[in-house]
Amino acid sequence: MKYKIHYVPLFSGKVKKAEHLYMHRNFDDVITTTGYVWYIEGARENILVDSGGDPKLLSKLGYPANKVQSIEEGLGKLGLAPQDIDIVIQTHLHTGHVDLAYKYTNARFFLQKDELEFAQSPHPAVRTWYNLKAIERQDIEVIEGDKEIFPGLKLLKTPGHSPGSQSVLINTARGKEVIEGLCCIKENFEPQIIPPAYHTNLLEAYDSLARLKEIADYIIPMHQTFFF
Ligand SMILES: [Zn+2]
Repeated sequence: MKYKIHYVPLFSGKVKKAEHLYMHRNFDDVITTTGYVWYIEGARENILVDSGGDPKLLSKLGYPANKVQSIEEGLGKLGLAPQDIDIVIQTHLHTGHVDLAYKYTNARFFLQKDELEFAQSPHPAVRTWYNLKAIERQDIEVIEGDKEIFPGLKLLKTPGHSPGSQSVLINTARGKEVIEGLCCIKENFEPQIIPPAYHTNLLEAYDSLARLKEIADYIIPMHQTFFF
């Protein structure tokens, strides 16, 4: 089974590179990052990776986020509406990834057990990162560890950025592509692995990136700005 990944950018903004790369010493380096959801075409059901962020909410929290398009516009280009989505693979529960969960009124949400439990009572050091409220009323299917949900479409538990972050490994025409679930940019993986600056466990985060680099033919860093 081969799938096709569609990028749906929702917001972008300028951030310090040091917000993505652990111990990046040049604090003047600024990059433009982007927030997406991804539609996976080719399964029996309509699958989305992440719910997407609300730029207004993000701006309120101090993250620079300029709207690229609404989720309705983005999915509309693929002939879809939010209520057509059957499955949302929620990589983790950070604001910017889960805020729009309420839009998918007919979807089941695949979420790692550890992520749900941590977000229910986050450590005060990272409490502001989580938006559990967004998913409170949704239909959640709790996942524990790695799981193939369709042939050629696998969830990988990749903790470290958040205790229960998961990544999505997808068979496509390019080979094994992975949408990593640790809020990275390209330079977190190349030329050498640099853990994300935001993390709950630095060493776990490193190991998760190393694992993805080993398994996948092509890595999609969640916040990398591609042409769109
Ligand atoms: Zn994150």
